[in-house]
Amino acid sequence: MKAVIKFGKGKGLVEMREVPEPKIKDDEVLIEVKAVSVCGSDLHIYHDSHPYWPPVILGHEFSGIIADIGKDVKGWNVGDRIVTETRTGSCGICYTCQSGFPQACEQKRPYGIGVNGAYAKYVAGPAHLLHRLPDTISFEAGAVIEPIAVCITSILERSQLQAGESVLVAGPGPIGLISLAIAKSAGVKLVGITGKSSDEGVRFEKAKELGADFTINVDQENPVKKILEMTHGLGVDILIETSGGTQAIYQTFEMVRRLGRVCAIGISGRDEVSIPYDRGIFKAIRYDFCFSSSWTAWEKAIGLIAKGLLPAEKLITHKLPLEKWEEAFHLLENLKAAKVILIP
Ligand SMILES: [Zn+2]
Ligand SMILES: [Zn+2]
Repeated sequence: MKAVIKFGKGKGLVEMREVPEPKIKDDEVLIEVKAVSVCGSDLHIYHDSHPYWPPVILGHEFSGIIADIGKDVKGWNVGDRIVTETRTGSCGICYTCQSGFPQACEQKRPYGIGVNGAYAKYVAGPAHLLHRLPDTISFEAGAVIEPIAVCITSILERSQLQAGESVLVAGPGPIGLISLAIAKSAGVKLVGITGKSSDEGVRFEKAKELGADFTINVDQENPVKKILEMTHGLGVDILIETSGGTQAIYQTFEMVRRLGRVCAIGISGRDEVSIPYDRGIFKAIRYDFCFSSSWTAWEKAIGLIAKGLLPAEKLITHKLPLEKWEEAFHLLENLKAAKVILIP
């Protein structure tokens, strides 16, 4: 089969190659990939700025059908429509796993990063990570459930966003747009998103389509002033930080209200970021660092999409054959896309 592989450590070093089809172990299933979504981390792996274990087939956001089943697998059949969590390798016995957060296990080696992923016709993996994909959700929408589950884990479960609250999303990339959609589905009273002049095209338009009450172009206006104006001097209840920008991170302390929460999902790509620490103390701000997705968030994501409460399809701006993976990377790097789907 053809597969897109990161074949060594360093910048670039990604190409499409002919590889053998994967073999399954007794507790695994073989998945025929129907759609795979390109993630920002795939670009980071391409540029050598994210952990990975080469050689590895890329792709961790995907949907498919079961093509074969190991002899110890129960409850699943060939032909079942599925999506899968990505926490392959989590040990199940360490403190983190046993306390209910296997997605944060140090031993985790996710699909497309530590073990072969879904930029290919087939991928093999453990049956216990599967979730059923209802007939009412397309395979394309199924491929964006992983990042949606990450945002649900962060925003609804960890930072506990409530109906009627006010929200600012910093950064209109794919994770920012998904965060906005989740805030809308949670019933917030006000939600805005910040970005730059380069986001005025596709991304701000997409934000408006998803129901943003306002957008702030930080190249043209002061986001702190605007947010204080919009909230009568109070600040927002929750600020969802997806930009990873140093100035944006610094400004969260002025834009969130006293006793408000910051839900940090975006990585900065830096060793250190300066913050107004004492300001955080005096305002008693809660700063939630978030990572990966919980089992429950996958079930919530599937439920919300199936009920039509979370418009997953709207996040998708492009659909290309797997052979055009480079074009997909360029679209994302040039901020011309929200989610790009590849079809193997
Ligand atoms: Zn991802
Ligand atoms: Zn563990």
